Amino acid sequence: MRNAIKLGIYLILLGCLRGAWLYTSKEEARKEEENERTRNKITTITIGQRRFRIQESALIEEIKIPEQSFGLLTDTHGDVADVQYFTKEFIKRKVDGVILTGDIADMFRWYVTDDGEHVLRVLGETNLPVYVLPGNHDVHRYYTNTIRKLGREYPNIIDLLRYRRVDAAGINFVSNPYGEGPHYKYSDYVADERKYDELEKLLCSFSDNDPVVLVTHQPPLCKGKYGVDYTLGEKNEGSQQLAHLMKKCNVKFSFSGHLHSATNGCTETYEPVPQKQFSPSLLVTPGAVLRHKTRTGYACNAAIITVTGKTLMYELLERD
Ligand SMILES: [Zn+2]
Repeated sequence: MRNAIKLGIYLILLGCLRGAWLYTSKEEARKEEENERTRNKITTITIGQRRFRIQESALIEEIKIPEQSFGLLTDTHGDVADVQYFTKEFIKRKVDGVILTGDIADMFRWYVTDDGEHVLRVLGETNLPVYVLPGNHDVHRYYTNTIRKLGREYPNIIDLLRYRRVDAAGINFVSNPYGEGPHYKYSDYVADERKYDELEKLLCSFSDNDPVVLVTHQPPLCKGKYGVDYTLGEKNEGSQQLAHLMKKCNVKFSFSGHLHSATNGCTETYEPVPQKQFSPSLLVTPGAVLRHKTRTGYACNAAIITVTGKTLMYELLERD
């Protein structure tokens, strides 16, 4: 009898717990829906003097800028201190925006730390437009939650996963978070045919005179040792599909990361481009912010990109 009463109490308690749990998840879903509705009502993003119009998954800016520069970072893998170092450098150099091409935190770190959030906060504090893209290490659920959370505090952080096409003043960006190969095996951002079709439409969609840049975590496949995908293993490890789509849509510029030790700038025909020299075609992989092995030791890299007319120039930054 006493056991029956105990069991009854357990069942009632369980019922209450389940009720409370259902209520919180329903409440969360309702809040998320409300946020989504508010987000959809927003038609512009204002960052300082700059104003971007939102058109579905595209951002459009309608002013003219004769020359501008960007700080380019990739593969930070939660290395907040070095992100701080390069961000200070970017501010000193008066860049007009910052671009981070993925692998914000290490995959396991998204589960146990908030490094990814800290990296984004450091960049958000610049008050400049900060273009962010996930890489194979970025866990989709954490990436989107962090971006959403920081979005209220830092409206200057532009999520290139949401806005795949940016027609900014003097430059156009098309983003590609997806990739292939062994490093993407456990990633949330594996490329497939449909994603490449979508990318092709975006890459071929510009008709203005501004340079179009493919902003991608994985670099396009190049040929030879000057390629932006040439690794310490002396191989070109970029994506063939990306190289193919760039050619098909006559896209002559790309910013990429993923291969930590590939620190390079080359043309669309894989000829070397010297630093601080404007080029009508330029693919750049700056090398990881996370300390990585080089041919002569270890390094920690970033880059400054300058844009004028239809030409781009790069300068590598290195922290000893
Ligand atoms: Zn990567």
